[in-house]
Amino acid sequence: MAKTQLQWAKAGEITSAMERVAERENCDPDFVRQQVADGQAVIPNNHAHESLDPMIIGREFSTKVNANIGNSDTTSGIEGELRKLHTAVHYGTDTVMDLSTGENLDNIRSANIEHSPVPVGTVPIYEAVKHVDNPADITHELLLNIIEKQATQGVDYMTIHAGVLMEHLPLTDGRKTGIVSRGGSILAQWIEENGMQNPLYTKFEDICEIFAEHDVTFSLGDSLRPGCLADASDEAQFAELDTLGELTRTAWDHGVQVMVEGPGHVPMDEIADNVERQQDVCDGAPFYVLGPLVTDVAPGYDHITSAIGATEAARAGAAMLCYVTPKEHLGLPDEVDVRDGLAAYRIAAHAADVANDLPGARDWDDALSEARYEFDWRRQFELALDPERAQEYHDQTLPGDNYKEARFCSMCGVEFCSMRIDQDARDADGEMSSIDDETDLDASPSADVNLPPVGTHDTSRVPDEVEINGVTFTPAESHADD
Ligand code: SF4
Repeated sequence: MAKTQLQWAKAGEITSAMERVAERENCDPDFVRQQVADGQAVIPNNHAHESLDPMIIGREFSTKVNANIGNSDTTSGIEGELRKLHTAVHYGTDTVMDLSTGENLDNIRSANIEHSPVPVGTVPIYEAVKHVDNPADITHELLLNIIEKQATQGVDYMTIHAGVLMEHLPLTDGRKTGIVSRGGSILAQWIEENGMQNPLYTKFEDICEIFAEHDVTFSLGDSLRPGCLADASDEAQFAELDTLGELTRTAWDHGVQVMVEGPGHVPMDEIADNVERQQDVCDGAPFYVLGPLVTDVAPGYDHITSAIGATEAARAGAAMLCYVTPKEHLGLPDEVDVRDGLAAYRIAAHAADVANDLPGARDWDDALSEARYEFDWRRQFELALDPERAQEYHDQTLPGDNYKEARFCSMCGVEFCSMRIDQDARDADGEMSSIDDETDLDASPSADVNLPPVGTHDTSRVPDEVEINGVTFTPAESHADD
């Protein structure tokens, strides 16, 4: 049986995935191996995912971002899902989660895995629900079969809601918004109607064996995460977290990699404590947080409310940030929402990396600032996190080529452009108005994700077309064009 990255790391072996990760993170391959061996980082890398460009999730590495894609009962087939995957990869996601709950689940999952250079995650309980009339009818056997099938297909990590126990449910009674995790609410219904313990908990060691065989990474789900500020950091949330700590150690004993999911909606002043508590309870296993949203009052803008919380969480040690789009709480995101959500989260991740003093993380900022001060508009666009958006906004008012070297833009106008005024004053004083010591991004010690452009995964193993059941699907553009 092929070993998992964790087993290789513990055996002292540096795998090709670890070497690739070290290249992308600009660090020593043995440091990568040690972090994986100690459970402080994961390399989600199913043996069957051939088009994958390996990446790492851990607090000692650059902060990563996940984008959720997937259809619902009402929207999107394979072609649409591949377009969403393409958009997510293009705008710099580090992993995707296929949260499809509509039709054609197997085919969409296969197409995504075959075409994705980034790890693909799933939530198997969603598929289980599609096989029964009532969630309480899900059997242990059905759950294990679905998990095994998805592992065989090449899913790199799975959210397993094994931490919510029968005895935790009464702790949610006084909450304002009850149980807001989809998987958590399904399992709570199952536990209550069957009067039995969570099947994902009782079958956890069987799941470990499946994961070890295929090298699937656990993403231990936070079923009782708070759905509003009032429910944050309550007894239910922390009781589940204690169980997640126990499950983390069980998975490690089976040679399986683990990350742990976190809240949700949390007031800003409680975020760092939440991260530190998870790191303590789960022995440093990477923390993968959804936001958190720092206020409940801004539907339509929750990519912003949550990116604020995500920055704070990453600053405190969260390793991966699950993006939230402007459609959160309101509807299924489309490609525009995927773009806006990813921009917000790439900003959060990068801001935290700069603040956490990751080697070279600020070089990108310095290079863009230099281009800005020199009125090198083309270079500014090129270095922007979202170059198309930056140029589009600039060109709305000053579209001509002659304005690409103009010493002003339409924000302040020529007379009030402070940078022009400053430069003219320095010239008049005989001081240098240009920058002597320009940042050389080619020589930067930064990790790939802290250098422009975003979305630069190695796509050489991604096929241009995907064939599913004799039908060929071609995404809108090839990732190789990015
Ligand atoms: S006009 Fe204002 S915003 Fe535009 S470049 Fe000058 S200082 Fe910056």
